[in-house]
Amino acid sequence: MSELVIHDLHVSIEGKPILNGVNLIVPQGEVHAIMGPNGTGKSTLAYTLIGHPSYQVTGGEVTFNGQNLLDKKADERSRLGVFLAFQYPVSIPGVTVANFLRTALNSRRKSANPEDKGISIPEFRKLLIEKMDYLRMDHAFAGRYLNEGFSGGEKKRAEILQMAVLRPQIAILDETDSGLDIDALRIVSEGVNALRGPDMGVLLITHYQRILNYVKPDYVHVMIDGKIVESGGPDLALHLEEHGYEWVREKYEATAA
Ligand code: ADP
Ligand code: MG
Repeated sequence: MSELVIHDLHVSIEGKPILNGVNLIVPQGEVHAIMGPNGTGKSTLAYTLIGHPSYQVTGGEVTFNGQNLLDKKADERSRLGVFLAFQYPVSIPGVTVANFLRTALNSRRKSANPEDKGISIPEFRKLLIEKMDYLRMDHAFAGRYLNEGFSGGEKKRAEILQMAVLRPQIAILDETDSGLDIDALRIVSEGVNALRGPDMGVLLITHYQRILNYVKPDYVHVMIDGKIVESGGPDLALHLEEHGYEWVREKYEATAA
């Protein structure tokens, strides 16, 4: 049973408190969306879960499968089965997508079983082709240097392929407001829908409701001022689309007062 548990998480950036006690549980295989106005700390939560050094955890706990995530480095978190999109946004000239994915997979396997000798090249080729076919990707993609000259959509594809190969237990996607075009949105959504299931949960962080038209969440949470203040089913996202966030803020401020 894999479960992400965020308990009373407080995070500051350069001494300024941004997250003020986030509580959230994502049980195995569920898709949870976090929505909220700009500047309320959604990306801060994503970066904190990633282990970005600029984000100082000043209180609270985050565990995954009962293990403390916060004292682990980004690569250790990944080996535990936490997939962090945008973890490798830099291009790596000279390293092909296939090589990168095989190295990542082997590292994951080795941490699960220190005796693991790694996947053989023919076996890996077979796996990669199977995943690329599943995601309807051109096989030539595997031979390109990672992210080098990739379009926005191709970077997304590379991430989704990475997700398909590594089969994380939870994928955290911060669809930052820096505009995904409709193509990239479709790639991400189709990929997530193809891979979500009892074995893979998703934490989908988004300002816009539109991605939730494609990826149907089990639960929707609203973050205001660094706290999750409202939770509901998929209908909540539609309600927010229609009515905005102001009513949530008012309700929250009324209860806080
Ligand atoms: P969201 O993703 O919900 O739009 P963010 O987590 O990006 O919100 O930002 C939350 C708050 O933290 C904002 O007030 C923002 O200005 C501030 N912030 C984010 N990143 C930094 C940073 N690197 N340095 C200083 N302040 C930051
Ligand atoms: Mg953001």
